[in-house]
Amino acid sequence: MYNKETQCIIGDCGGGYESSIAPPIFQTSTFVGGGEYSYTRLSNPTRTMLEREIALLEGGRHAFVFSSGLAAINSVFSLLKNGDRVLISDDLYGGTYRMAQTYGGYGIEFEFIDVGDSQNVENALKNGAKMVFAESPTNPMMKVADLAEIAALCKSHGAIFVVDNTFLTPCFQNPLSLGADIVVHSATKYLSGHHDTLAGAVVVNDEALAERISYISMTLGNALSPFDSWLVLRGLRTLSLRMEKHQKNAFALCEVLKNSDKIESVIYPGLPEHKGHSVMKGQASGYGGVVTFTLRDVKDAGRLLKGGEIIKFAESLGGFMSLITYPLTQTHASIPKEMRERIGINDRLFRLSLGLENEKDIAEDMLKLLS
Ligand SMILES: *Cc1c(COP(=O)(O)O)cnc(C)c1O
Repeated sequence: MYNKETQCIIGDCGGGYESSIAPPIFQTSTFVGGGEYSYTRLSNPTRTMLEREIALLEGGRHAFVFSSGLAAINSVFSLLKNGDRVLISDDLYGGTYRMAQTYGGYGIEFEFIDVGDSQNVENALKNGAKMVFAESPTNPMMKVADLAEIAALCKSHGAIFVVDNTFLTPCFQNPLSLGADIVVHSATKYLSGHHDTLAGAVVVNDEALAERISYISMTLGNALSPFDSWLVLRGLRTLSLRMEKHQKNAFALCEVLKNSDKIESVIYPGLPEHKGHSVMKGQASGYGGVVTFTLRDVKDAGRLLKGGEIIKFAESLGGFMSLITYPLTQTHASIPKEMRERIGINDRLFRLSLGLENEKDIAEDMLKLLS
């Protein structure tokens, strides 16, 4: 196992096909019979390269890539059947919430809990569960789940532990090494990193789980296309470098926000005062590039909603450009008002994904938006 910086560059083999440094795009739907590959819905060499690289980065045996993060999560939920019970973060990506609601209609029960306190997981597991699904840090409130602790609880109760590792990427956190059974990613975000494709990934160690996910992918027909696989492969080369810069910009902007009298609170797990800071320090090697903050006065929201010259008002995160998001009407609009209020998503809350621009330029743009 190389250091992440090197692993991102070396990839699967350090060279593509016919000695090419960059991997080729096998833009074909089918293959002449008899070989390793037969039909692209099942497998494709460009996709296989990406899957091997993501598995290596996550320290997992098997990875599968999908047409979006939600397609990856859909495939994981497809492991469930009628009557199963799932414990899931109450603070999570809105699309995942919507998917839980959809599966709820198929007779699968979802209980929403605060995974930032392992005691809640332990209590809820007493009634049995087939799966525990956590984001860490959570989106957008940045709660930190103690992954090793929850993994141990899941093991003793026979539940599958799934971690959405989108916010930290394999460069900063490897949930499988902490005992998780399944890692999911929206590769749309940091892994591809360039705001130009949708993609998702599932990583597992267990052979039986791998076989089931592979079967589900083939059956649902939601695997990633060769061209999009290539885009994510290209993104991975600079992942480690980008994560360092995203994080550097996040720390710098936290200082700017903390010094502004327009800001009520700054939520970033890298800050020593953050409730989950010490757990995160122990289980991850970085804190990521997403900062959540609340305004003192909702009157200041209007300007932020227009976006700046550098910080654009747009949904999503994890790309080269700094983006500001309003969870209330964008990423978390699907979550019912009562639940939103309970977890703290209000009309003064914004989520900022720091891009790769110069930190002083970002600060200046932010201060203009707040002035
Ligand atoms: C964006 C996101 C998803 C969904 O991924 P898509 O690629 O948009 O389908 C899932 N989880 C998290 C944490 C996300 O940020």
